[in-house]
Amino acid sequence: MYIDTRPGRGDKPNEDYVIASAGGMGARAVLLDGAGGPSELPTGCSHGTSWYVTRLGERALFGLENNQTPITTALAMAIDSVARLHGLGCDLDNPGTPSSTVVMVRRTLTRVEYLVLGDSTLVLEVNGEVVTVSDRRIDSVGADLYRRMAGLPTGTPEHQAARIAFVENQRRMRNRAGGYPIASNDPRAAYEAVIGSYPAESVSRIALLSDGATRFVEFGLGSFRDALDILDSSQPYRLFDRVREAEASDPSGRRWPRAKRRDDVAAAYLPPVLDAA
Ligand SMILES: [Zn+2]
Repeated sequence: MYIDTRPGRGDKPNEDYVIASAGGMGARAVLLDGAGGPSELPTGCSHGTSWYVTRLGERALFGLENNQTPITTALAMAIDSVARLHGLGCDLDNPGTPSSTVVMVRRTLTRVEYLVLGDSTLVLEVNGEVVTVSDRRIDSVGADLYRRMAGLPTGTPEHQAARIAFVENQRRMRNRAGGYPIASNDPRAAYEAVIGSYPAESVSRIALLSDGATRFVEFGLGSFRDALDILDSSQPYRLFDRVREAEASDPSGRRWPRAKRRDDVAAAYLPPVLDAA
């Protein structure tokens, strides 16, 4: 098993979070990518997005420990628990209140179960085929605003202003009709997640990746199978290195238009279970 995360910037806290555990002939992993947004926008929360993803990730993993707990229930309980942790000092109705994508995986002796909410990606090798699961409902929100931002050079005031307009719109559409579900303070979002499962013996390698890490594929540096191969190698950190090298080679986003020059990256990798017999 391998987990790692790196912040996109030295002057901002990492809003990706990843946690995993193995034991009882199984493994569990949770990966979150918090929506922080530009610091110009208010959030109504004194804790911040890093705080949110850490608390939510720990609780979601804890929920997976009991194999009898459905994966959606594990997430719903975690969301509810963190909503209470905010306390009375935070305005949980503020559209900028911390939120996060979620990928959860539980491998037991018999099943591999997963949950995906938001645009992080789960990569599974199933009977030798590479399958990806990502919830792209967020992409349908503000596509015109995204295109406007993407047309401007990253790092300029114009790009930043377009990014603020894009994020403000995205925030308004969280967990409401016509918008998209995301983990925040409402446990009902867990039941809107993409879920599925496979027989344990059909799944070999598993990776959980934030959208910072899937830039590896988005930028054309390799396929998802290549990403699995790197994570399975003696130098799994090369996956992040390759993304950082590409980002550094294109600082203004001319080749690869994007919201942030460098994004937080996170990955979890669960290797195949060896046949004990
Ligand atoms: Zn708070």
